[in-house]
Amino acid sequence: MKSLSVYIHIPFCVRKCRYCDFLSAPAENSQIQSYVNELCGEIHREAQKYKLYEVVTVFLGGGTPSLLSADQTAQVMSVLRADFALSPDAEITMEVNPGTVTEQKASAWRGAGINRLSIGLQSAEDEELKLLGRIHTWQDFLHSWELVRNAGFANCNIDLMSGLPGQTLESWRRTLSEVIVLKPEHLSAYSLIIEEGTPFYEMYGEGDGLPDEELDRQMYQETKAILAKAGYVRYEISNYARPGQECRHNKVYWTGENYVGFGLGAASMVEHVRFDNVRCMESYLGRLDKVEHRHELSREEQMEEYMFLGLRLMTGVTKSGFAQRFGRRMEEVYGSVIDRHCREGLLASDGDCVRLTDRGIDVSNYVMADFLF
Ligand code: SF4
Repeated sequence: MKSLSVYIHIPFCVRKCRYCDFLSAPAENSQIQSYVNELCGEIHREAQKYKLYEVVTVFLGGGTPSLLSADQTAQVMSVLRADFALSPDAEITMEVNPGTVTEQKASAWRGAGINRLSIGLQSAEDEELKLLGRIHTWQDFLHSWELVRNAGFANCNIDLMSGLPGQTLESWRRTLSEVIVLKPEHLSAYSLIIEEGTPFYEMYGEGDGLPDEELDRQMYQETKAILAKAGYVRYEISNYARPGQECRHNKVYWTGENYVGFGLGAASMVEHVRFDNVRCMESYLGRLDKVEHRHELSREEQMEEYMFLGLRLMTGVTKSGFAQRFGRRMEEVYGSVIDRHCREGLLASDGDCVRLTDRGIDVSNYVMADFLF
């Protein structure tokens, strides 16, 4: 059987964070239940198309999937189990927002087969959390952490965010050190991006009050140094893990494997065809076919994706993998771009492998743009 990953979108949150442009909104319980029913119907119907696939990873993302009741989570997981061939060692992750965890829910998640949690902390500083509009404090997070560890979750990610308004190198260091003490298996540390249409765009769209590029870079360097000392390996530009505990689901995106998304606005990529579900809740609830855009990637687009997604990984991309996938040598297609960035010290090409250097990581967007045709 071929491998498949499944993403399930839960588009509800207690309230909107000030920086967030994800597809999510607060909702009444009855709306959430209608959505869960529709989602389960979608999963059940679509499963017919994937009889030849084995599901190796599942990711319940959002929004705030931990907002669902224990019964609603069980409802989604049981339809998935009934209709898909789930690998016995599948990685099944759920995103959790501190402040939405209870002892009963945490044990129900384990009972539903969820074996990995990704917890959105962002900062250990209450001032910063307040500014971001998060619903929780550092203490709330610690309480949620204790509940999920006590429930037996031994594979957890903590999401952090640097480049926040008013954040200093010292406050970022404090966040990292507080979190390391808890020994999570995985850490994601992304830089804040100010998105249009969010309250943060109104407040900081011009860049005033945000750490400058130099400070942002220092925070990135500091993250790598502090986490390396604590035993974490950076395996992707913004992701760190203890050896062997990288997120298998996210690696599927970066290596161009098949994934299918269910739920509002969910994206899929199966056998080089990208398709997206509708983003309007009314349409989602009202139609059987949820897909609104479908696009088959050309050979060139597949090569672009192979390069710019693969280069996000610290192991980089391989020339043999490229040749096997596309029947052409990487040097033939991208030789001049690779040579130029190697001369600039932004890429390293050692034998079969091409990867970003430390300097290349700092300007990864500039390097990757050169791989587009
Ligand atoms: S919890 Fe996450 S998805 Fe929800 S509003 Fe905040 S950042 Fe957005």
